[in-house]
Amino acid sequence: MTYKRPDSRYPENWNKLRWAIFKEYDFICQKCGRYKKGDLHLHHKTPLGLGGTNHKDNLIPLCSKCHMKEHKLNKRKRYVR
Ligand SMILES: [Zn+2]
Ligand SMILES: [Zn+2]
Repeated sequence: MTYKRPDSRYPENWNKLRWAIFKEYDFICQKCGRYKKGDLHLHHKTPLGLGGTNHKDNLIPLCSKCHMKEHKLNKRKRYVR
């Protein structure tokens, strides 16, 4: 039986991938430059809805504040993480 989770557009190893990228950037938010371990989100530079990928080249760590700002700034019809 195949069971599709609602977040199935994220790859199986998403959690691993996240941490690998956070570590790669030393847990520093790429917007404000602050050390934000524990408060980091992974942001898609090009949203998945616009043809972006889950490849690490398309992903940067942002703290929750900057991430919110970033998405308010680039308001689109569809909310994309
Ligand atoms: Zn930040
Ligand atoms: Zn985002």
